[in-house]
Amino acid sequence: MLTPSQAVAPGDPTQPHAVIIGSGFGGLAAAVRLGARGYRVTVLEQLDAPGGRGYVHRQDGFTFDAGPTVITAPFLFEELWALCGRRLADDVDLRPVSPFYRVRFHDGTSFDYSGDAEAMRREVARLSPSDVDGYEQFLQASEAIYRVGFEQLGHVSFERWTDMARVLPDLLKLEGYRTVWGLACKHVKNEKLRVVLTFQSLLVGGNPFSTTSVYCLIAFLERRFGVHFAMGGTGALVRGLVGLIDGQGGRVRCGVSVQEILVEEGAACGVRLASGERITADVVVSNADSAWTYRHLLPAQHRRHWTDRRIERARYSMSLFVWYFGTRRQYPDVAHHTISLGPRYRGLLDDIFTHKHLADDFSLYLHRPTATDPSLAPPGCDTFYVLSPVPHLEAGVDWQSRGEPYRAAIARRLSETLLPGLESEVISSLMLTPQDFQDRLSAYKGAAFSLEPVLTQSAWFRPHNRSEEVERLYLVGAGTHPGAGLPGVLSSARVLDAVVPHARDLPRRVSHPIQEGLAHVRPA
Ligand SMILES: Cc1cc2nc3c(=O)[nH]c(=O)nc-3n(C[C@H](O)[C@H](O)[C@H](O)COP(=O)(O)OP(=O)(O)OC[C@H]3O[C@@H](n4cnc5c(N)ncnc54)[C@H](O)[C@@H]3O)c2cc1C
Repeated sequence: MLTPSQAVAPGDPTQPHAVIIGSGFGGLAAAVRLGARGYRVTVLEQLDAPGGRGYVHRQDGFTFDAGPTVITAPFLFEELWALCGRRLADDVDLRPVSPFYRVRFHDGTSFDYSGDAEAMRREVARLSPSDVDGYEQFLQASEAIYRVGFEQLGHVSFERWTDMARVLPDLLKLEGYRTVWGLACKHVKNEKLRVVLTFQSLLVGGNPFSTTSVYCLIAFLERRFGVHFAMGGTGALVRGLVGLIDGQGGRVRCGVSVQEILVEEGAACGVRLASGERITADVVVSNADSAWTYRHLLPAQHRRHWTDRRIERARYSMSLFVWYFGTRRQYPDVAHHTISLGPRYRGLLDDIFTHKHLADDFSLYLHRPTATDPSLAPPGCDTFYVLSPVPHLEAGVDWQSRGEPYRAAIARRLSETLLPGLESEVISSLMLTPQDFQDRLSAYKGAAFSLEPVLTQSAWFRPHNRSEEVERLYLVGAGTHPGAGLPGVLSSARVLDAVVPHARDLPRRVSHPIQEGLAHVRPA
């Protein structure tokens, strides 16, 4: 049986209590925002440390950021620090990275993709002189999409279908019905250049051949605000956000798994942990994957929209195979971010997204953070991760047995191309497979970026930031509006400012089912 101290929320009981499930970037940003709006905040994280996909592995003297490495839109972080009366620069040293990406084609040629307008024109001209004007037009289209898609629609809630209807004329004008690939093809002819302008949507889980061209806004976002790296690794941003929450009097509890969102009279009123502990809340925000939240945390009797069937039938983004490794030597010629393309582009993406087939070939993203911050490896060594987009768990791949051969094939490929002699230089190694996305991070079907960002699963069609199912339940993170990627999940936290009442305006419950009536608490 629960004791009262276990059942009631910690902190100042006069402040409404917000419980946040999950400490991904969306969850941490939501905590800061709710803390700034008068809530007593508790973040509950099932892993032993915060960050979610931005978890940090430390092993053999190497620091491996598990997930996000390309930091764009730093102003979204600055806003969070400003809400706490602080400056981002006081806690986190963000450094611009150039080139943004080095794209290596299968034939061994490469393209340096940067934010320098003149350098970009030169690179485009080197590849395809007749496409320079078309490239400029593509950038103009990207800016126009950014102005609407990011500035106007990125932080508003899409709660009614009329919200969607209102933006349709803009979407049509901006050719949002085209795919990312379609928009690139409209402006440039060279196949390699088309690849260079479209692979970015993969960084948020979108297949350029089916994702709406709205995601072409990334090109302008990167050009305007740059690509950055946090010294000390992306984990420095996680630590910084946790510091802000601490400073507000909030709490981040790790190693606690939420098993159920408790509902009373149609409104979320707390959560039950796997340990049986119940925590009361005035509002509950789920940063867990939206499909997982509805399928596994909110009992079916409370769901009318996101039924098990609908969740099962939705389209999910691809998954990733990630190999983190440290080498005993350095590879100084390798850029911070390298995209290493395989022989196929469309065919490989068809295999991943449509046929759900694990192909023998791959296209890779190689991260060498020690290019910018050598302190992430022991002296004379290099830290890396390489990721390969792969189908999610519907593919039925047994990663237990296929993981190691797949890793070895990637190592061979890297050894033949970017990292000569790699196999004998590796002194630290760690793998993350689609199965781990499901088992460790509770990602539905092991999708690395939650619901696939196609038009029919965007904005109003995505699980809403204010739950359609029960009151006082909110969603933040990759699986809600606007979507995956750090700018996306930080924007989803910003949407909460519009849909969660300020703590002082929150109607108090007449009687709190858990706090006031422990008799109502079912035994664990
Ligand atoms: C390998 C990789 C590389 C990426 N690179 C980039 C990049 O360079 N730039 C970029 O902008 N984006 C990148 N992304 C995307 C970006 O990292 C994600 O979209 C974003 O971090 C997701 O944040 P989130 O708020 O949705 O939460 P998540 O990071 O998904 O965190 C959710 C948290 O909830 C916890 N949780 C789930 N269920 C429960 C429960 N029942 N109880 C308690 N806790 C629970 C999980 O353990 C997890 O910690 C990358 C993603 C991956 C995987």
